[in-house]
Amino acid sequence: MATVYFDEATRRFSKDEAPAVDGITLDIADGEFLVLVGPSGCGKSTTLRMLAGLEPVDGGRVLVDGHDQNGVRPRDRDIAMVFQSYALYPNMTAAQNMAFALDNARVSKAETKQRVAEAAKILELEQLLDRKPGQMSGGQRQRVAMGRAIVRNPKVFCMDEPLSNLDAKLRVSTRSQIAGLQRRLGITTVYVTHDQVEAMTMGHRVAVLRDGRLQQVDTPERLYDRPVNTFVASFIGSPAITLVESEVREGIARVHGVPVPLDRAVAARAGEKVVVGLRPESWHVVATPDPRPAGENGSSSSHGTSLALKVDLVESLGAESFVYGRPVGSGESGERVTVRLDRRTHLTVGDLVHVEPDHGEVHVFDAASGARIE
Ligand code: ATP
Repeated sequence: MATVYFDEATRRFSKDEAPAVDGITLDIADGEFLVLVGPSGCGKSTTLRMLAGLEPVDGGRVLVDGHDQNGVRPRDRDIAMVFQSYALYPNMTAAQNMAFALDNARVSKAETKQRVAEAAKILELEQLLDRKPGQMSGGQRQRVAMGRAIVRNPKVFCMDEPLSNLDAKLRVSTRSQIAGLQRRLGITTVYVTHDQVEAMTMGHRVAVLRDGRLQQVDTPERLYDRPVNTFVASFIGSPAITLVESEVREGIARVHGVPVPLDRAVAARAGEKVVVGLRPESWHVVATPDPRPAGENGSSSSHGTSLALKVDLVESLGAESFVYGRPVGSGESGERVTVRLDRRTHLTVGDLVHVEPDHGEVHVFDAASGARIE
């Protein structure tokens, strides 16, 4: 087992372009499951590959157990990598694929056999050991790729989108298997995904990257509850948070004309331009909206304390559903507001619904920088 430390680690593919990974500092604890997440091209794979030694480090350092890995060859790093493509040898059986690295490392035949048998048992691959990759399903191949990493008993697992090639159902079951396996083995794991649900359900901590820079490293709960900026707020959470520009006046901000109460510290920033964020579950439907006519409260789309939305999409997930609506009067170009409904409330496209923000569930960010205002 091992600690991993990225110390201002930088990778620059071209002198004329911004670095793909730009001075990342990240401390990963022994036995931790750390997920790197972010949109396509943000530098997740490059960060992981620097740790595995598959990509040079152009600035800063990467340390494993306190030792600078600069100059250490990938095969000498004691790090096992699981790739999205699985990278299995097609002409070898599952057992031979798993044994390959051990044979190369001159581990004795008896020990190799034992380690492969143990991994096969953990991954329920015992019946498939004689099959070649072409004779296995995607999920089975994925487990062989995991087995190949496990048999090495490495200090660190590096996993690069290992579930991407599985169908939706298998992804869900496999992600809990991998998380459970990691818990049992206790091997420090760095896991790359662009899927925020995968990140939130698997990681002890999640590191959010954007344009090669770390935005926030936190537990899934903190990322969701206290996003440090508008990028993290909108990247984490599905459906996404509704973000609306506003201005602080008389201790409140308005979202499409509806007053949103603010914490005292934020309320004191009179005249400041802010972005207000409300998650889908931070609204409630009001059965009897404030009857004051439109216009009296400064907005054509709101009636007193409630916001009138015209529903233009409904997503039903069984236990709950989400409606996406545009403020009445804002037209087709109006910014959409997303609201979670409980299973008792049924709405269809074209309906009018009145919603109110819940107290204490409002995120506020600086409009210019996007940074959270505490
Ligand atoms: P994805 O989710 O699409 O796999 P990622 O977050 O893993 O993306 P990286 O693969 O790390 O992103 O790439 C980060 C940036 O570096 C991208 O802009 C990419 O085009 C660039 N890049 C990656 N590999 C190379 C390379 N070998 N040569 C030049 N540029 C590269």
